[in-house]
Amino acid sequence: MSDDIDTITFTDLSKFRKKKQVPPFPIVGIVGQHIMKKTMLLLASNPSMGNIIIIGEAGIGKSTAARGLRDILPEVECVNGCFYNCDPKDKNNLCQDCKSSVAELNSFGKRVPLHELPIGASERRIFGGFDSQSRLKPGFVGLANRGYLILARVNLLDHDILNRILDISESGIYKSSSDRGDFVHPAKFNVIATMNPEDGELDQEVLERFSLVVNIQSIKDIEERIEIVRRVEAYRLNADDFIIRNRREMEAFAQRVKRARDLVNRVDMPKKVQDAMDNILKKVGQENDRARNALSQATLANTAFNDRVWSTVDDVAEVADTVLGHREREQE
Ligand SMILES: [Zn+2]
Repeated sequence: MSDDIDTITFTDLSKFRKKKQVPPFPIVGIVGQHIMKKTMLLLASNPSMGNIIIIGEAGIGKSTAARGLRDILPEVECVNGCFYNCDPKDKNNLCQDCKSSVAELNSFGKRVPLHELPIGASERRIFGGFDSQSRLKPGFVGLANRGYLILARVNLLDHDILNRILDISESGIYKSSSDRGDFVHPAKFNVIATMNPEDGELDQEVLERFSLVVNIQSIKDIEERIEIVRRVEAYRLNADDFIIRNRREMEAFAQRVKRARDLVNRVDMPKKVQDAMDNILKKVGQENDRARNALSQATLANTAFNDRVWSTVDDVAEVADTVLGHREREQE
């Protein structure tokens, strides 16, 4: 894989021009909302981070942040022609086709996948299955393997479907069987959900399935509000120019994320840090595996994002609120 900065980062503007589409608003162009932006960077830094949900009123950049993640994600090696982005070196997580291939698996560098589930998508589009000619078609849960699946306005999604998507994401595999045969493939992806509480509630039980919850408020500071209007207007008038002006900062983050992904599996968590984690979990009445795993993965992400291979108590403290804030205390 090339280390050339332009090949691993940043929106290819010509691609959007060809399709006459407007390229997405860059994540670094969002004014304020530091916790949301930081959480997205951590999510990009650690593929094992788990699912996150961003909660806040309409029009404050939730979807922009989720979609903007694409520009800071690096390339990964994927098998040529595989729908599920199989990693040719990860023999234990290959799809059936890659597993049974007699030829050597050729690969190419492809940006970590990020897909957004369209509102009202059918179950066939979400989960995949056989088409009318008995051909297997992947759904979004397959296409997002090794990457991210955005669920915008998640509280409007059917609860059964949402729970099934979260089950698949947690198990890392999709399995279904019908009279036409079995359908199995790897499905390791992180959900990025967004919701506006005005659309309706999400059950506490479902909410607790998310590793991280980011609650964002609209900006009240008058100068920051003026800056938002100024940036939105600049983007509306000339999106390419706006993106180019944010390029350097985007590239810097993309580089940090790429480095963090290389480091994150080597991070060491000293006993002192593990004890600090146990203390926090105890204090908030969350001594369960789900909360412990979420806190641990977020701590590892924070460590790697800061270019270290040993965690500190500060790493735990920096992520604890987003990991634990939404969980109800267990009965003592
Ligand atoms: Zn495959």
